[in-house]
Amino acid sequence: MSVVYLVHRLIDGTGSKAKDRAALWVEGGRVKEVILPGEGVPEGVAVVDLGDRTIVPGLIDMHVHVDYWYGQPNIMEYMEGEGLAALLAARNVRSSLEKGVTTVRDLSSGTGLKLRRAIELGYIPGSRIFTSAKGICMTGGHGYECSDSVVQADGAEAIRKAVREQVRAGADLIKILTSHRSETPEYRQEELDAGVDEAHRLGFRVACHAAIMPAAKMAIMAGVDTIEHGTHLTNECRELMAERGTFLIPTMIAYHSGGVAARKAKANPGAVDPFKRSLVMRYADWWIATDDMLESQFRKAAAAGIKIAVGTDMVMADMDFCPMHTEMEMMVRFGYGEMNTICAATRVAAEALGKDDILGTLEPGKLADFVVIDGDPLQDITALRNVHTVVKEGRVEVPVPVPYFSW
Ligand SMILES: [Zn+2]
Repeated sequence: MSVVYLVHRLIDGTGSKAKDRAALWVEGGRVKEVILPGEGVPEGVAVVDLGDRTIVPGLIDMHVHVDYWYGQPNIMEYMEGEGLAALLAARNVRSSLEKGVTTVRDLSSGTGLKLRRAIELGYIPGSRIFTSAKGICMTGGHGYECSDSVVQADGAEAIRKAVREQVRAGADLIKILTSHRSETPEYRQEELDAGVDEAHRLGFRVACHAAIMPAAKMAIMAGVDTIEHGTHLTNECRELMAERGTFLIPTMIAYHSGGVAARKAKANPGAVDPFKRSLVMRYADWWIATDDMLESQFRKAAAAGIKIAVGTDMVMADMDFCPMHTEMEMMVRFGYGEMNTICAATRVAAEALGKDDILGTLEPGKLADFVVIDGDPLQDITALRNVHTVVKEGRVEVPVPVPYFSW
């Protein structure tokens, strides 16, 4: 199947200038060529005229939990097997696809592996999934309560084993959690070193939840590939990250929502639902202080030259899964610029995944993942919300074709 999409404006994700009146030639699920004006459309191929619209590469959300149900009103329903959690996850990854997010990185979940397979098989529409399977934390560490999505391991050898177990289960990468909302780091340096060494030795990347100091510095020194959140980085950390090429996934929207909920809960505890209250109350001042420093921290990270990719980490029942556009709009508001922000959600994210050979930009040979939108996101980033069509691996996925599945 060979299709040429004619479009008013094409942003290819490389960071180079948008191409006007270009055409995207897609064949066999991949980009065959970007055709520039005057080059002529090949004969014998289907042509789709997208009119006055813009094409951008499919967006990549670097931090989701596909089935997080701990904030749902009735968690007991989710504890009777994984059925409801899997269906919640199916809803979530369909909603992210509808936003133009063609790929998500699932950083610990109970159902990510099976959901990845269901999408590969074409059973359900959804964003492509790269999953860490279960996250790894110390006994009683951050996330330990989520026993279907996080395993506890202590000591270098146990952590190596936990890494191997995720690899055996079919994980695409490893997730390690090493900080909570206090000044105490969780894993010891030798434990982090062992986890990262084992993952890298087996050819897997490591994402590390490290929001506080000195946990973040220890994680950087251990050689993790991505620092998740990194809300309290110091100048020293920033310099180290820039020097070593460690990626930062700021997930600002998650911390901003935490700050908003903490303020509300302090003023009027009854106004916040019990789950959120329990999450934020104990560390209310920490959440508020962290929210207050998001902008300055982001600006400093950008100025230090750290590679930044977009992730959302939204896990609340009453909030949107994958608020990718909101996170990107925050980045633009904080001075990152529209083009840089689009690259952070496409090319840079693909690099952080280690999948830049097939994802992230619209260049010959890469998977044909793209979003057709109304408007120009380089003038107004909110235009990314005006999703017209989403194509994943050459196939129109939004609007969802009917019938979706047929032999
Ligand atoms: Zn998370």
